[in-house]
Amino acid sequence: MGYFNKAIETMSRAELETLQSERLKNLVAYVYERVPFYREKMNAMRVKPSDIHTIADIVKLPFTEKTDLRDNYPFGLFAVPEREVVRVHASSGTTGKLTVVGYTKADLDVWSEVMARSLTCAGVTADSTVHVSYGYGLFTGGLGAHDGASKIGARVVPASSGNTARQLMLLKDFKATTLCCTPSYAAYLGDALYENGYDIRDFSLKSGLFGAEPWTEEMRAEIEKKLRIKAYDVYGLSEIMGPGVSVECEAQNGMHVWEDHFFPEILDDDLQPAPYGEQGELVFTTLTKQALPLLRYRTKDICSLHVDPCPCGRTHVRMGKIMGRKDDMLIIRGVNVFPSQIETVLLQMGNVSPHYQLVVGRENNTDTLEVRVELAQGMFSDEVKHIEALRSDMESRLHSALGLSARVKLVEPNTIPRSEGKAVRVVDNRKL
Ligand code: ADP
Ligand code: ZN
Repeated sequence: MGYFNKAIETMSRAELETLQSERLKNLVAYVYERVPFYREKMNAMRVKPSDIHTIADIVKLPFTEKTDLRDNYPFGLFAVPEREVVRVHASSGTTGKLTVVGYTKADLDVWSEVMARSLTCAGVTADSTVHVSYGYGLFTGGLGAHDGASKIGARVVPASSGNTARQLMLLKDFKATTLCCTPSYAAYLGDALYENGYDIRDFSLKSGLFGAEPWTEEMRAEIEKKLRIKAYDVYGLSEIMGPGVSVECEAQNGMHVWEDHFFPEILDDDLQPAPYGEQGELVFTTLTKQALPLLRYRTKDICSLHVDPCPCGRTHVRMGKIMGRKDDMLIIRGVNVFPSQIETVLLQMGNVSPHYQLVVGRENNTDTLEVRVELAQGMFSDEVKHIEALRSDMESRLHSALGLSARVKLVEPNTIPRSEGKAVRVVDNRKL
């Protein structure tokens, strides 16, 4: 498969570092001059723009957190006059109040460039038809995918989210070759297709670019089987840009971070830089952003970085699958559990659908975890003793994978609420 911007995507690590060093120096001078928040933070740490010589000096700089954006709601961290801001988005607010982000014309060009590179990784060309079922609006998914596909010159179907029956009709009739949406919605479309009497052989889909929430290899296999496509992972967050910060290539051994624009670091629990290969919190510095440049933004997402050569020829660092975000991590009876660990166990079993929900509660001062998962179509009519055997097998596998006992409740197909955007995997009743 081709590249969208070969010179940049395959440039040597040494050249990339030189470019990053140059851009970091400019960035630090830029925010010091224009953003009082950063000037004050740097002054407090006794760091001056002239202390930054190479990309390695990034460790001297202050962190930024989501609360800093919220405290400066809506436009307090912007580095340009408001008239230069040509687009505003806001994060979906998975974990609280809206965080507002802004873009200049040049920022939008960078975004569509990195998203074009990302879609190209998933096989999109000027001959493709890209069906976008991410929501359009303040959420960055819809317009981000849209502008990237337009930059390639592909045909875009801006379906947005919602109305699954109509989505299926459009996908088939307009002969979409690539689908963009959340992985949970892709899994839902896969089921809905058969339930609505369609045959996947009448569709033209070849690939899917899925992101905005964590998903496992098991979920990938499920989607690839149902939709008969190759499914690619794409990552992004509105604070840094939107979708297209990183993406899988055909080797699918991690997501290449577009490092000429977004510089990644992994931090350990003491906020010290962790070596390549180690899991920790992912942190990004925007090297070229004008409207809302961020220094060392703490994503709360947990993953690792890998720099060994990739067979695709791209030189940019790869990030492993996101384990989940720090906020998603459940602590149950003192044990740390990510929903993705449970998803892996469930989908390895077969006989269940990829639709599940975790219900956390408290009984007699002890945390409880109930895993609700839908049986696969057809299974529900099976003998009670088969279902009971499946259930207890699942409980013992969860116990050995998590080191924690959980109750499994097998429910009828189509009873767990579906989401058209990010799936709601956890219901925590302890906070009530
Ligand atoms: P919100 O914080 O409101 O959800 P965004 O819509 O900007 O705001 O979502 C960004 C977050 O979505 C990321 O920080 C990450 O937790 C999650 N995310 C995005 N893409 C992926 C992906 N491919 N895999 C796992 N998580 C992802
Ligand atoms: Zn690669």
